[in-house]
Amino acid sequence: MINTQELRIGWLYPTLMSTYGDRGNVICLQRRCQWRNIPVTIVPLTQESDATIFEQVDVIVGGGAQDRQQEIVMRDLQGAKAEALRAKIEGGTPGVFTCGSPQLLGHYYEPALGQRIEGLGLLDLVSKHPGPNVSRCIGNVVFEITPSPLAETLKKLLGKPPIIIGFENHGGRTYLGQVEPLGKVIKGYGNNGEDGYEGAFYRHAIATYSHGPLLPKNPFIADWLIQTALQEKYQTEITLTPLDDSLAEKAREAMLKRLDVNQL
Ligand code: GLN
Repeated sequence: MINTQELRIGWLYPTLMSTYGDRGNVICLQRRCQWRNIPVTIVPLTQESDATIFEQVDVIVGGGAQDRQQEIVMRDLQGAKAEALRAKIEGGTPGVFTCGSPQLLGHYYEPALGQRIEGLGLLDLVSKHPGPNVSRCIGNVVFEITPSPLAETLKKLLGKPPIIIGFENHGGRTYLGQVEPLGKVIKGYGNNGEDGYEGAFYRHAIATYSHGPLLPKNPFIADWLIQTALQEKYQTEITLTPLDDSLAEKAREAMLKRLDVNQL
């Protein structure tokens, strides 16, 4: 069991990228560490932060935003900061990036109005908003995580196939290139409402359209992030103390029932 390690959670642009409640992901990671007596620090990564601050985090959380805020973020996320984030993700630091955030990690995002926003090109995907008169993709979403060996690892943590329950709210449609999808849609729109894929998975970065927020609704993902972050940081195998997730599990069962999805 661990008691000497500590986890630093890097939170990308909290004031600009927290429109859709994804702050709950940060709180979930924080609480699940505290419940296990793992010291935890939340490190806001903001317009004021120096690139070296980006280098000192163990797990990264990026939330959703509106088109305008995404543009402001991308103007700031250039040069040394962009390189630091790129190096982190390429180096295996885990992260969870929701909705507006993965749009920015792809090659570009075409907003509802205005100019194309160039992304970091870290994920081989593009996102396009079809315009303000086209319906947004809004509603509950259920999908199964598919990349291997992530799916098998999560199945072990959860004791059954890793089904994600979330809520999506996006105008942009995402199209994947050579990057793996995070999962297969069971209910909802996913990346674009056409190809049946949801999100993307690259190195240890989870990209998804699923708010909810994601982690409290799917706590096994939070534990995978914490475990992976500590393993990457300390280069040793980490076993997390199990927590009582029975209430979360009951909520998941109720949602799956309401959405008429059979547990696989
Ligand atoms: N602005 C983006 C879109 O509408 C992202 C929305 C979000 O982050 N929920 O596609």
